[in-house]
Amino acid sequence: MIKRWLAPPTFKDDEEKNRRAGLLNATILFILAYTALVLSGSWIGGQLPVATLAINALAFAGSLLLRRWLFHGKLTLVGLCLISFGIAMVTASAASVGTVRTTISIMYLFLVVIAGNLFGRRGILASTLASSLAVGGLILAENAGLLGTPDYRVGFTQWITYTFLFLVAGYITNYALQTTLDALRHTQKEIEERKRTEEALRESELRWQFALEGPGDGVWDWNVQTNILYYSPQWKRMLGYEADEVGEDLGEWDQRIHPDDQERVYKDLNQHLDGQTEIYASEYRLRCKDGGYIWVLDRGKVLTRTLDGKPLRMIGVHTNISERKRIEEAKSKSELRFRSLFEQTHDAVFIINLDGRHLAANQRASDLLGYSPEEMIGLSIRDISAEYDHSTDVFSKLMAGEIVPLFERQFRKKDGRVFPVEINAELIRDKAGKPLHIQSVVRDISERKEAEEALRAANEQLSLRVAEVEQLQAELREQALHDPLTGLYNRRYLAEMLEREITRSEREGNPLSIIVSDIDHFKDINDTYGHQVGDQFLIKIAGLMAGSTRKSDFVCRYGGEEFVLVLPGASPESAERRAEKIRQKCAEIVIIHEGRPLRLTMSFGVASYPRHGSNAEETIIKADKALYKSKQRGRNLVTVWCQEEAVSSLLE
Ligand code: GH3
Ligand code: MG
Ligand code: MG
Repeated sequence: MIKRWLAPPTFKDDEEKNRRAGLLNATILFILAYTALVLSGSWIGGQLPVATLAINALAFAGSLLLRRWLFHGKLTLVGLCLISFGIAMVTASAASVGTVRTTISIMYLFLVVIAGNLFGRRGILASTLASSLAVGGLILAENAGLLGTPDYRVGFTQWITYTFLFLVAGYITNYALQTTLDALRHTQKEIEERKRTEEALRESELRWQFALEGPGDGVWDWNVQTNILYYSPQWKRMLGYEADEVGEDLGEWDQRIHPDDQERVYKDLNQHLDGQTEIYASEYRLRCKDGGYIWVLDRGKVLTRTLDGKPLRMIGVHTNISERKRIEEAKSKSELRFRSLFEQTHDAVFIINLDGRHLAANQRASDLLGYSPEEMIGLSIRDISAEYDHSTDVFSKLMAGEIVPLFERQFRKKDGRVFPVEINAELIRDKAGKPLHIQSVVRDISERKEAEEALRAANEQLSLRVAEVEQLQAELREQALHDPLTGLYNRRYLAEMLEREITRSEREGNPLSIIVSDIDHFKDINDTYGHQVGDQFLIKIAGLMAGSTRKSDFVCRYGGEEFVLVLPGASPESAERRAEKIRQKCAEIVIIHEGRPLRLTMSFGVASYPRHGSNAEETIIKADKALYKSKQRGRNLVTVWCQEEAVSSLLE
């Protein structure tokens, strides 16, 4: 608390002021302490005259006021007051004690020292002059006897005064030493700082020099007002010149710009000069010493402008970008080649974004779908697929990294028509393996599908024809076994069938009977009434025969007017009965010819397996012979083959 009260005021960023404030504060504190001691000493001893006490009291109060001013920053005023009051007080106290004492003289000395510290040489001169005049006045006054006789009894006050003088002398010496040391340290720091700055400056200068002279970019520095332009040696080398070959004016630069680029360069530059752009940057061609051109990237910035914004100075760099331009050109050429391949291919090519939207499609693709190339961009797979199921769609499979073989899809044209396509799709990745897009080559396979469809229809037709032919063949085969006039089986079929039936009868142990029949005097009917009438009879008899058969029986036209009935399982007796029935029915057949009814009769021969014949052929022969017998016996008869009769007839 006391320490804080005793401390001097401090002022920001002004060391000299702080130093002076410290000295003034200390001086004020000394005065306060000194006057307080004098006052308390005289109160204890009761020795000092009233005038001295009054002066000391005044000094105490004045010092408090000065300290207040000091904290308000009025340093010069406080300094002036202190010195003036000091000299006045010392003089007054010297006058009051009656003589110029050593102590008092020393006080003048300190006042001079303090004034010197505060105000420099002028302070020393002024305070020396003031102290000299004061001492001179005192001497004159004492000699004239105006001052009182020295009072040597004030020893205690003197002792205190001396003590304080020692302290003040010590303090001032220490203060001077400290401030000198501070100043030295400060100077040392400043020197070091300057050294560092100089070093940094030298480095940056080296760097700048390197930028200007080194192998990097060409540097230029343009005084916009005078049009004088500094070109760095590297700038000149870049264009193939020696350092002294290029002048220092704007023309050296702008006359080298390629005619095709000039307009653009000036546009970029003027925009920056007008303050529209933060940085000027332009790419263009500059002519070299050998007449060829190099591509440069020119970047610059106006460094200084007038108050109304007019540019004064601009600096910049030229970077040789010919190599980059060459690569870019090669790249764009190869892109062009790819583009023409892309456009000229017969197939439609789609480049599809990872979200299923088309990035690009060639002319063939837009022709195929009926969209304009502009409409194609941004179309989604869903828009052109006639059937789209996300869960099973190829697009999802490709995205999942699967390799999908050639597949078919239905696409929808802009007008809604659906057509088949064949697609070869592939996921394209970048060098790091990250998916970029899906590339698909799409081929319209409508014609192929139509051809396939036509082929399928033709195949169907062919199968139908084959079936028809087979049917025809079956019919032909059927016809080959049938008699065309009556529809009954023919002799060929009988031979085939009889073998089979005999085998079965043999296996099953059943008899099989055969009835052979022949129309009586049929020749006469033909001759008398014509063949057609004969045919009518043949048809009627065939119907009768067919109507007389059972499920297991067969009837066939054996010859011109001969019919054979095969009766599997029938005995000779039962066959005879059947033949008899047929014979009777036959006789009932009537054909009306020219208004007249015509009739006929038939003769029958019966034989049985195995009783009469041991095989088909033998049994037929026996039945035929029995028929012959019926004819012999007068016709319109049924005869069963009989071995004895045969033998007897042979004997006749
Ligand atoms: P028979 O009582 O001895 O049997 O005397 P027939 O005149 O009937 O003599 P045969 O059996 O030898 O006669 C066969 C005749 O049958 C000869 C031919 O004129 C006639 N004929 C054979 N096939 C056909 C045919 O398909 N249509 C017609 N209308 N007549 C036929
Ligand atoms: Mg006959
Ligand atoms: Mg006959």
